[in-house]
Amino acid sequence: MCPCVMPNKSAESRCMVFYIGKLQKKSSEEKLFYQLAYKSLHKVRLGRKTSAGIPHEGAEEGLFKQYEGDDTDKQQTYIQWRAAMEMDILARLTAGHRTTIYIQPIGTIPASVLNFSLEINNECMPLLDILRCFTEIFFTPKQATVLPAVHISEAGWVIGERTSKLTGEPQLLVRDFYPYLFKRVPRDGVCIMGLSWLDLYPCDKLNFVLGESSCAHKAGVFSFGRFDSRVPQQPSEGVAVDGPMLWQLLKTLTHEVCHLLRLEHCPFFWCTMNASHTVREAMEQPLFLCPVCMRKVQKVCRFSLLERYTNMSTFLKQVNQQCQFVKFMESIEWLEKVMNFLMQTNNPR
Ligand SMILES: [Zn+2]
Ligand SMILES: [Zn+2]
Repeated sequence: MCPCVMPNKSAESRCMVFYIGKLQKKSSEEKLFYQLAYKSLHKVRLGRKTSAGIPHEGAEEGLFKQYEGDDTDKQQTYIQWRAAMEMDILARLTAGHRTTIYIQPIGTIPASVLNFSLEINNECMPLLDILRCFTEIFFTPKQATVLPAVHISEAGWVIGERTSKLTGEPQLLVRDFYPYLFKRVPRDGVCIMGLSWLDLYPCDKLNFVLGESSCAHKAGVFSFGRFDSRVPQQPSEGVAVDGPMLWQLLKTLTHEVCHLLRLEHCPFFWCTMNASHTVREAMEQPLFLCPVCMRKVQKVCRFSLLERYTNMSTFLKQVNQQCQFVKFMESIEWLEKVMNFLMQTNNPR
């Protein structure tokens, strides 16, 4: 039975711990942030039995939108995540020393893509540094490092390959990368994320995958999404990086790193950890974690919510000024709302 249907107060507080964890050590504004999410979940779960789409408190704040996908039965609460994570930490006693997320370019990426740059924090940042910088903000205070590119044939990697029925172009079997990437994770590595210009596929039955990861190998791979007709199939010069491409890279990279921190797909709220079945679906999802997923990542990284959101807002405003895209604009608006919520809670009138 779901603990949400128990009526008394101690059962309710147990239920909250089940979803969000204990909050005693959180600041007052972070307590309210997480409690808001819990109340929202509680009402939705009770309401589902009798009426669909009931209003909930998160919606009143305009911060958390209920997830409406059809895979809501699969859920990983905070407590379930922590059990999985603790097993992982036991298996790697040095986990506390793992401070760096590594980004590993794989194969040839067109120079016009690599040389794309934006002015961020008074620094001219090429594309891979933009990805590095956002990773460091998303997983504050973890570091991120871009490794020198590795070429599959030169490195002697044996990677499955096929011709895509959709594009007629070569695709690489994503799971074949994991053992090789695993060997390249430095001692301080939280994980390693390969970045491929070439399209990826997960198995014979499926057409493509934007990114995929393996917790056992602490490794994942993501791609530029070459099945997209906007992107030329072969590495060629003159390819332009635009807002949608940058959005997709930032989203896929952070989504896959979250999987490597043992987060499963999120059925609770509209969240960057929602499952996606199409590129369009993946592109529409937000760049932000819902409170249940945030609680998990905050447990690993131990950041201040307000500080992280402020840095994210500063970063995305600079990106959007130079590389405008509606999803960046929506993100900046959402960040304003959540920062206002946390600041008002911190300084009640
Ligand atoms: Zn996923
Ligand atoms: Zn979530």
